[in-house]
Amino acid sequence: MNPEAYKTTICEKCSATFEINIQERRFDDSVIQQYFRCPACGKEYTIIVTDKKLRDKIEKRRRLASMIRTYGKSMNEAALERKLRELDAMKRNIQKRAENLKERYVKEPDGKEQKEN
Ligand SMILES: [Zn+2]
Repeated sequence: MNPEAYKTTICEKCSATFEINIQERRFDDSVIQQYFRCPACGKEYTIIVTDKKLRDKIEKRRRLASMIRTYGKSMNEAALERKLRELDAMKRNIQKRAENLKERYVKEPDGKEQKEN
C-alpha cells in the first residue's frame, strides 16, 4: 500500500470526506506510528507502525523488488521463482511485524478483543 497514492478518503465513522494529511507520532525504541485523522470527528486511522528493524526489512524488500523489476527478465525461471518467493516471505514477515507493533502501540477504541498471549 502506498499512502501517497490517494489524497482523499471517506471517514468510516462519520462519512465526512477529507484530505489525508499523514502525521507521525514517536514512541520509545524508535517506534513511529504513521496516521491521519478525520477533521470532522477526530477518528484516527493508523497507516502503519514501524520500528527500526521493520524499517530495515521494508527497505530490504524494496531493494529486492527493484532488483527483480530490473533484472527479472534476464533471470532464468527457477531463479526468478526463488526471488519472488523470497519477496513474498519478506512481505508476510513485514505484515506480521507491523501487525504486532500496531497491537502493542495503538489502542483502537472500537477495535477487536485483545488476544491472549
Ligand atoms: Zn469522521
